[in-house]
Amino acid sequence: VTPREIAAGVFYLALRGANVYFVSSGSSWTLIDTAWPKSGPAIRAAAEGLFGADARPAAIMLTHAHPDHVGSAAELARAWGLPIHLHGDDLPLITRAGRARQDLMDPAGRYAQALMRLLPRRTRERMTSSGLEGAARAFSAEGSVPSLSDWECVPTPGHSAGHVVFFRRSDRVLIAGDAVLTVPLWGLLPSVQRISPPPRIASWNWRMTKGSVAILARLEPLVLATGHGIPMAGADLARGLYAFADSFSQTIGS
Ligand SMILES: [Zn+2]
Ligand SMILES: [Zn+2]
Repeated sequence: VTPREIAAGVFYLALRGANVYFVSSGSSWTLIDTAWPKSGPAIRAAAEGLFGADARPAAIMLTHAHPDHVGSAAELARAWGLPIHLHGDDLPLITRAGRARQDLMDPAGRYAQALMRLLPRRTRERMTSSGLEGAARAFSAEGSVPSLSDWECVPTPGHSAGHVVFFRRSDRVLIAGDAVLTVPLWGLLPSVQRISPPPRIASWNWRMTKGSVAILARLEPLVLATGHGIPMAGADLARGLYAFADSFSQTIGS
């Protein structure tokens, strides 16, 4: 499995439908998102193919703490001896006390929990990534990213409370997590490339999800690299994203 370069120094790899990004900046590189559990060996092999034997990132960043993005974070943090950085508002998703609190806050969280309870206990425990409790660090989301000096971190709450995106203004590359997707139905039709909303059932606050898509449109990206689906690029992309944000904002539901 070879990562594909989608912009200067930005590589993506799809692992069981969840995208991870390898981003070069100066003499170092950063891993953004870690796919499902047990993707660690594939991610490390890809990194070594790109950056050489024993390649180790400057940092592990998460767009948000859902299991298809945080899944292999604990094993990679252990292997590389690095903490994992995410927005503080998503820490509750990977700590027991906070998880219980967030269940009470919102119906989407309750749905997600109900779905999770259908899974075998071992699988569920892997997905909730309890190994992360000691390794996760909250970063202050506004503004610059420590290991990516040429990128900005933009809070985009909605799909999760602490969702963030990463934006490189010089060539308008946007790594958008699940704030918006380039594939419908969470990748059930992986060959279809279309700007799409994240699945509502897995989203924390639908009204804020809509608001965050409008934030993304105002960034006017030339490359849109999302958590699922093949990244999109081109001069028409910004117009398409504005149009999507507009129609999405008028859909029913809050
Ligand atoms: Zn998600
Ligand atoms: Zn996802």
